[in-house]
Amino acid sequence: MVFIILNKYGLKPLSVFRWPNYIEIMSYKHSPTLIEKVAETLKIIPRLHSEPKDEIPSLTEPGDLTDYPPPEQWDDWVEYEAKGWAKKQKKHYSIIPTTCFNCESACGLLAYVDKENGKIRKFEGNPYHPGSRGRNCAKGPATINQINDPERILYPLKRVGKRGEGKWEKVSWEDVLDDIAGRIRKALQEKRNNEIVYHVGRPGHEGYMDRVLKSWGVDGHNSHTNICSSGARFGYNIWHGDDRPSPDYANANFILLISAHLESGHYFNPHAQRIMEGMMSGAKLAVMDPRLSNTASMANYWMPSYPGSEAAVLLAMVKVMLDEGLYNEEYLKTWVNWDQYLTKEHPEVECSFENFIDTLKKVYADYTPEFAERESGVKTVTIVEVARLIGKAGSRFACHNWRSAGSGNLGGWAVARCLHFLTVLTGSVGTVGGTSPSGWNKFKPIFFDNPPAQKFWNELHFPNEYPLAFFEMSPLLPHFLKEGRGRMEVYFTRVFNPVWTYPDGFSWIEALTDEEKIGLHVAMTPTWNETAYFADYVLPMGHASERHDINSYETHSGMWIAFRQPVLREAARRAGIETTFTYETNPGEVWEEDEFWIELSWKIDPDESLGIRKHFKSPYREGEKITVDEYYRFIFENIPELKEKAENEGLSALDYMKKYGAFEVEKTSYQKNLKELSPTDVEGSKVDPKSDIVSKNGKNIGVKIGGKTVTGFPTPSRKQEFFSQTMIDWKWPEYTIPTYIKSHVHPDKLDIEKGEFPLVPTFRLPVLIHSRSTNAKWLTEIANRNPIWIHTSDAARFKLKTGDLVRVNTEIGYFVDKVWVTESIKPGVLACSHHLGRWRRPEDGKGNSWGTNLVSIKNLEKGKWKMSTIRGIKPFDSDDADSSRIFWSDGGVHQNITFPVHPDPTSGMHCWHQKVRLERAHDDDKYGDIFVDTDKSFAIYKQWLAMTRPAPGPDGLRRPLWFPRALRPDDDTYYIDKQ
Ligand code: SF4
Repeated sequence: MVFIILNKYGLKPLSVFRWPNYIEIMSYKHSPTLIEKVAETLKIIPRLHSEPKDEIPSLTEPGDLTDYPPPEQWDDWVEYEAKGWAKKQKKHYSIIPTTCFNCESACGLLAYVDKENGKIRKFEGNPYHPGSRGRNCAKGPATINQINDPERILYPLKRVGKRGEGKWEKVSWEDVLDDIAGRIRKALQEKRNNEIVYHVGRPGHEGYMDRVLKSWGVDGHNSHTNICSSGARFGYNIWHGDDRPSPDYANANFILLISAHLESGHYFNPHAQRIMEGMMSGAKLAVMDPRLSNTASMANYWMPSYPGSEAAVLLAMVKVMLDEGLYNEEYLKTWVNWDQYLTKEHPEVECSFENFIDTLKKVYADYTPEFAERESGVKTVTIVEVARLIGKAGSRFACHNWRSAGSGNLGGWAVARCLHFLTVLTGSVGTVGGTSPSGWNKFKPIFFDNPPAQKFWNELHFPNEYPLAFFEMSPLLPHFLKEGRGRMEVYFTRVFNPVWTYPDGFSWIEALTDEEKIGLHVAMTPTWNETAYFADYVLPMGHASERHDINSYETHSGMWIAFRQPVLREAARRAGIETTFTYETNPGEVWEEDEFWIELSWKIDPDESLGIRKHFKSPYREGEKITVDEYYRFIFENIPELKEKAENEGLSALDYMKKYGAFEVEKTSYQKNLKELSPTDVEGSKVDPKSDIVSKNGKNIGVKIGGKTVTGFPTPSRKQEFFSQTMIDWKWPEYTIPTYIKSHVHPDKLDIEKGEFPLVPTFRLPVLIHSRSTNAKWLTEIANRNPIWIHTSDAARFKLKTGDLVRVNTEIGYFVDKVWVTESIKPGVLACSHHLGRWRRPEDGKGNSWGTNLVSIKNLEKGKWKMSTIRGIKPFDSDDADSSRIFWSDGGVHQNITFPVHPDPTSGMHCWHQKVRLERAHDDDKYGDIFVDTDKSFAIYKQWLAMTRPAPGPDGLRRPLWFPRALRPDDDTYYIDKQ
């Protein structure tokens, strides 16, 4: 049993306290009443007040962490039963660390394995995890729901009948591997390498899949990033070659969030802890968001900006700070490519820093706070006040934009770019209390073997129309297939559910059911989802406690590595039982990807003629297949600090990670741009006398600053790039410096009289996981509906009250939802949470009944799809008694399926915000009704495609060489003519 307790400031909602400790606190001063004494004497209740001293060991831990069992007792931890504590009923547990899989943060978990029955009883936080420090959000402990879900997939399934018909048969892992391996082998032998695709939803694995795909020689990595975060990534990358911010909230004096980041953002439990620490030490918080989110309600400044106007507000702050001298001259002079800017863009002025500042003032003169107020609705006085506080915070200014505005708008990437401008102006890049590039906090493992980069470029993922697309153009995949740009022989979807999470889900259904375009669809998933219904194989993969993985993320200004491990396998090992495969200890035959890929790769190349097997041979046993333990052993024992620490405890590095689950590689990771190049790097390098750039073998590797040769940033100038030659080279000269781009939902583009609104469909509910919480009963119980947020003034205009049905018309169809009339949304803006509206059809049988509506889907005529709700959620029979106690009936509405694709022509990010027309529901409309015309969605794809400026760029490149790719192919493939 866990409790979430607020401290006296109400600022620590994420702390989890354990039950026995709570009892100890609660009963500490209690003296028995007369009635209690009599009841005890008569044995009506247990004798509570004169028992001998507690026999259970106390919860102790050195330092601040006082609520966790000491690790020397993790092999046999004893505590009282929650319901039997009064009788002193004891339970013996094996406590085994792993990491949460319910968002990217990978917080530490401790699994309590009941030694009596070998089952996991509960999950709590792991105090040894440097990112989460023993705390979790609601989704962490709810892992227990996921593993005990009575409707989970327990065995590999193969489709029977037509794809999508809902008929399945149980098959063996051996048969699955043989079938898939045979198809891949044939494709590789026939040089159809680009027909093998791995499409990841929830990532992880720190390089594991890169190794697998490279060993196969396929350019087969696809991801969900272009519906998630690539807008913000692009904005950060264009500045300094790293695509994510890593704010040092705990030490900041001022924090600015373009989102509800405190409650539901990226790495949100680790970040939330540190935002609160910062605030409790006096930091001020400003939140820019059209919704009064929980985060905004905790802020000192809520800036309810019109969607898409954020960059205008940020540039107005830039102007205030420039005009008032609130900038860090030393930092700008040293670390910004201002001289390049003046030389190229303003040859008429002398190249001096003073002239740079003067030019900036002129260039941004029109971004007055009054202009920003007109665009955003945020008051001038607030903009000025916040700008001054940011300037005053100086190098202790921390900020973040991840999804939110960066993922909602045409040109949303400019929001992150303008936000980072503030970081540069204040000189808070990588400082104590500032914001670092993400790469400084991320541990990069050393592998036992590194296959060469693939020699293929897959234009289904990186088409020439989007040369700067930060990640794969995955939302367009169905349209590319429709246009005949390619096909896929084997398509793996891994914890990935585009039919439901992506825009334009019916186009995905059309593509997935076309066996010509997709030869074999393999859905690797821990739970049923709307995409798995249209698979050929559904392969059950483990939840957090049922798989191996390593994690390392930029949760704060340090660096850590954590070990996700299958806890029942580890419990078996502690009990002296060795296993070969993880499915031997998991429920049913639930497996894990790591071992699956080793076995599959081995089978693809039985005679070693494809050169694949050699990449899966043990570094410890000559010629033999590597085991998953050996894979991680090699990584861990190649971290010298970890190896040393483990040896001090008489453990191997692998055993240390099995025991503690995490290791802190660096306590702090500030200002790595100042790291001096090693003598080996410097040897044979050249320094450009004009720019001071240090290069070697044709690559820029550092920069000379103040007589020292330092690393700098991974950009062409090795500095912060205020001015981007890349944007000029790739045909976007209007975006050479940070600027404001008007969104596709700008008021100029709406007809308010006709009932048009911008719809913000991106906000998250803190307790839900994108598409994996419908199997977690606690989470679904807390959040199960997604009404349209509408301001009271707009509701009055439409004569709506809370609960009324509306029809929300998008460019390709409509959905019917209820409204929630509230003051917590900016007037003129609608919002709807992206989590709910999960569904299954009658033919899909059981699965996720805690939160799926039962729907019927009809293809009325070519391209015209209608979805109707047959019924909402209701109690169901299962082994879990709670399934008969379901009291909620509303499962929400699937809004995303009614959205067309909106690929930003520069960053490639899908621009989620929608221009919609609101009307009262029609007489025959029912809650949850959905209509979509996929011919219209194809036409809108074409409209947005026409906005692109395709490759080639300089030298016949299809993409700048300095731009990263998730699975980077050989450099030659970057040249269109060389492939
Ligand atoms: S923040 Fe993410 S990783 Fe951490 S407990 Fe919550 S869901 Fe799990």
